[in-house]
Amino acid sequence: MLAGPPPTYISPTLPSTMPTSSPQMYTNQFRPPIMPPNSQPSYYPPHSSQTSMATNGINRPPIQNSYLNSGLLPPSSQSDASSPMANPNPQVYGSQSSFPNYQPSPNSQPTMYPPNVHPTPIRPPSVHYPNYPGQPLPTGSVQPQLPQARIDTDSLPSVIQILEQSQEKIQAPFVTSTPGSLPPLVGTNFVCQDQGSCNPRLMRSTTYTIPNTADMIKQSHVPIALSISPLANLRTDELEPPLTNFGDIGPVRCQRCKAYMCSFMQFIDGGKRFVCCFCEATTDVANEYFNHLDHTGRRTDWYQRPELCLGSYEVAATKQYCKDEKWPEPPAFIFMIDVSYNSVRSGLVNYICHILKTDLLDYLPKDKNAETSTVRVGFATFDKQVHFYNIRGASSMMFLCAFDSLGQPQMMVVSDLEEIFVPLLDGFLCSPQNSRGVINSLLDQIPKTFANSQETETVLAPAIDAGIQALKGANCGGKIYVFSTTLPIAVAPGKLANRDDKKLLGTEKESTLLSPVNNIYTKLGEECAQNGCAVDLFVFPNAYYDLATIGEVCRVSGGEIYKFNFFSIENDGERLLDDLRRNFQRTIGFDALMRVRTSTGIRPIDFLGNFYMTNATEMVFGAIDADKSVSVELKHDDKLSTDSNTYIQVALLYTSISGQRRLRILTLALTVTSAYTSFYPACDLDAIMNYTTKVAVRSVLNSTPKSIRSSIITQAAHMLACYRKNCAQGSAAGQLILPDTLKLLPVYSSSLVKCDALTGTVTLNTDDRSWLMHRLMSMDVKGTSAYLYPRIYPLHTLEEDHITPSMIRCSYDRLSDTGAYVIENGLVMYIWLGSQLDPTFVQYVFGLQAASQIQPEKCRVAQFDNPLSKNVRGLLNMIRDERNSHMKLFVIQQRDSMEPFFKNYLVEDKNLTRGASYIDFVYELHREIRNILQ
Ligand SMILES: [Zn+2]
Repeated sequence: MLAGPPPTYISPTLPSTMPTSSPQMYTNQFRPPIMPPNSQPSYYPPHSSQTSMATNGINRPPIQNSYLNSGLLPPSSQSDASSPMANPNPQVYGSQSSFPNYQPSPNSQPTMYPPNVHPTPIRPPSVHYPNYPGQPLPTGSVQPQLPQARIDTDSLPSVIQILEQSQEKIQAPFVTSTPGSLPPLVGTNFVCQDQGSCNPRLMRSTTYTIPNTADMIKQSHVPIALSISPLANLRTDELEPPLTNFGDIGPVRCQRCKAYMCSFMQFIDGGKRFVCCFCEATTDVANEYFNHLDHTGRRTDWYQRPELCLGSYEVAATKQYCKDEKWPEPPAFIFMIDVSYNSVRSGLVNYICHILKTDLLDYLPKDKNAETSTVRVGFATFDKQVHFYNIRGASSMMFLCAFDSLGQPQMMVVSDLEEIFVPLLDGFLCSPQNSRGVINSLLDQIPKTFANSQETETVLAPAIDAGIQALKGANCGGKIYVFSTTLPIAVAPGKLANRDDKKLLGTEKESTLLSPVNNIYTKLGEECAQNGCAVDLFVFPNAYYDLATIGEVCRVSGGEIYKFNFFSIENDGERLLDDLRRNFQRTIGFDALMRVRTSTGIRPIDFLGNFYMTNATEMVFGAIDADKSVSVELKHDDKLSTDSNTYIQVALLYTSISGQRRLRILTLALTVTSAYTSFYPACDLDAIMNYTTKVAVRSVLNSTPKSIRSSIITQAAHMLACYRKNCAQGSAAGQLILPDTLKLLPVYSSSLVKCDALTGTVTLNTDDRSWLMHRLMSMDVKGTSAYLYPRIYPLHTLEEDHITPSMIRCSYDRLSDTGAYVIENGLVMYIWLGSQLDPTFVQYVFGLQAASQIQPEKCRVAQFDNPLSKNVRGLLNMIRDERNSHMKLFVIQQRDSMEPFFKNYLVEDKNLTRGASYIDFVYELHREIRNILQ
């Protein structure tokens, strides 16, 4: 029997440590970015291991120049900056790796792959999937006829080999001073020094040398797009965008195109005017902002002003940037808890109230440097009705006098759900500091009040609507946390019916099932976005929930969906708590507006992600946080000059968690070329795959699985064919030629066409599919990279003090019967135990006498005082630290009933839905390329 339900995806999270452990994340030290005149470039010692790079790899500058303290250090004291020439070769990352059986071409050193030189006959697929109850394998899909030759998989480009080779080449921080520099691969461990363009963790481009004409892009099929994570977490040894303030004059902008001041604006006329790098218009400098230029034409306050020397900075907004020109109120959090029968019986109501009271409310977010959180909270419950609670408490002084405070919370029931209103505008949202006694009392009472609930029907839209009205009434933005267990079938606006029909998945009709059935939740999302709030939906379904429809409220508002199938506290309690902690603690902005400006000649034309748009250029977010990313495609309006750079500027206007209105400005400089030989080496495959994945996921709703698959393959084939035609003409016809930067295009594309978001018919139910599509649409580049190629580490060979072992390729043949491995893709994690594994492993790591005692969902890595246990926990913690969500862990054994789910993540093999193996895909791709070239 299948042990428990099919693996479920989980939602985001942080390490299992609480926020207090990461205050350094918010340090905001300002370091002068470029090597000042007369100083020696600092020496960055080579780093041989990832650990040393992560902890102590960087020479800290002898003097930390805190911008906010306005340390006007003379240039000569700033010795930390490395030379702008430290990385003169932008292709150094991920380039020039060589593979067995590959021959470099004489011209541009592409990789050639001769499919016909290995005479070994093709074997039948080596991976065999056992059947398992209840989930018959799909039939009818046909494998393409393969050529009668087989290539050794070792000769195909390996993600792991390329990552390791790239890592070895990273000897110094990635410095952003040179336009057109290709950043290191997203899967490597590197430090960035912002010296003009922004950190690639905030924005990556699919290419750093942009073609000068639209025709070049059309020929190459390489999309020109940006992946923007404007509030991304940076490393603790990187510079957070410093907050600056221009006083009453507000942010300095180009008078014509409204671009914000950045390091690429050119001051002229002795500093009286500046020339815009985007539109070339000249703007007068306000008296308040004037500064003299030095002999090189640079402002003398260049080092002291982040907007003049950095690629990312923040600036305090003036009232003009606020709604109705009024300063915003600090955001509030509303908790909406389902108290129907299912919710009570699973222990959920009790658990949520318990963790809010004992843990979460003590860690409400605040701006860095703020002493206490200003977030107000409100509580409501719902089943067929919506219940509000008055939590107005006394001040701490008054609290002793019980009669002066509402010692007990009051409940108010709203039963007219057609025209929802909030019965208590005063007393619904309160500060936990002032009302903690009442809140604690409320959180004790809610589980008791509904303990015997027999109500199985719930409403949902009225509850969310009530939250929006409450925030509107309090004149603030915020978050509405909804904890919901069942499809809302009670008679009320937003009532839904079960329309699940799983057999449609994978067919041409799946788009109807995966599209919303009506626009009620979409409209609610729009209302949220317009009022500066977002809905985070925590769903705990035991049956169909219609996330395709309900999830719209999260998609449009910029919220998030967390999904816990068949919730039990024992299996999922820790994950829920971790996800909520991370949700509270990550950097977040409310009532946000984002706009992308570009140099004349190109412009943004397409926007992908979870947000709302009311016009063709501005993305509106009820809330946006560190884990959210959007993609923006650029298009040529005109031919670009190859003599000058092209600039991109992202401006995010938002309200911080303590209610400060701010702008975050990110700028990126790209070079321009008319030659494919310069264009291909500047391509960023990680960003290309992030964009391609989002385009594919979006098209699920208006296309068919077959045409999505074929468009991914055609695009990849065109990218390689164009390279072949323009950069490697001398090569033999039978060879597959891969440019250095696109070596992994075949393996990533092969994984994408068969990934569960696009083809999940066996492993996912309808709601899981909707959930996964929602997640991918806001996923950052690092996330899609791990999703497309999961990481596998051996656990049985972990050595003390060296907990990062080499990764293993994603293929079953690479796993040993005597080994134990962990695999993760950022969303889910498996530990796989080989059938011949030494039994002491199970004892030392899980504390079980035999592997037969393992229950896949319940099994936990126990805390034992032995080296193996410590090393395994160390590695798992390291993996979790890097991911945005608390990955649900399954412990499985070789050949047990859950192994097929695990095998689905071995992306180099043929998968459950019979998606082609890496090798077979390479054949198909190569055939496609030859067709194009003929
Ligand atoms: Zn301009």
